[in-house]
Amino acid sequence: MSTKKIAIDGPAGAGKSTIAKRLAAKLGYIYVDTGAMYRAVALSCIRAGISTDDEAGVTAQLKNISIDIAYEGGMQQIFLCGENVSESIRTPEVSMGASNVSRFLGVREMLVNYQRKIAEKHNVIMDGRDIATKVLPDADAAVFLTADVKERAKRRYDELILKGDNVNFDDVLEDMKRRDKNDSTRANSPLVKAENAVLADTTGKTLDESEALVFNIIREKVGEF
Ligand code: C5P
Repeated sequence: MSTKKIAIDGPAGAGKSTIAKRLAAKLGYIYVDTGAMYRAVALSCIRAGISTDDEAGVTAQLKNISIDIAYEGGMQQIFLCGENVSESIRTPEVSMGASNVSRFLGVREMLVNYQRKIAEKHNVIMDGRDIATKVLPDADAAVFLTADVKERAKRRYDELILKGDNVNFDDVLEDMKRRDKNDSTRANSPLVKAENAVLADTTGKTLDESEALVFNIIREKVGEF
């Protein structure tokens, strides 16, 4: 029997991971956070003193690392060479680094292969930037989740403050704009809405309202639940 595949793409801070996590629990699917994989590659480069802008250096580093995911209580954990780095990848430096390394074809090829293998074995809700356009073009449902950039930056800022990070709103907003530009203008798998994806704009919506919006799109497309 073939597995079910749900793709959620969109810019940073649109609420993809929070909504995808909740819906995965509701539907009994596994949630695959592909951004965490690009973050893990960036973290390994930063730790090894390799610039995340250096394509040759980053590509060479891929041979030295292994990236795996596992689930603990339904939560995705990401492992870099066997070490659980799920917390260490959530910093502004790693966010920007991930956006840099994700431009490189060698990085994308390795991670996209891994993502497709997971989706062959499990019913998935997978989030990222290129899931509907590249990783799972045959997805049963595809959603392009977005929101106004100031609102996305505010959500990310609140998250970082809650974690105890000492950040300032303007820096978070600037980082987000830079990352949006990087991600949507790159040559390899830029962030664009797939033709078959349904646009969901969460500007001004609460999390519950956004979740309901996405759930209704999925229910209609998959024809279940
Ligand atoms: O989703 P998250 O913010 O964790 O992603 C970090 C970075 O990884 C993004 O800014 C993007 O450059 C890259 N990414 C990607 N393709 C994906 C997921 C993430 O290029 N499928």
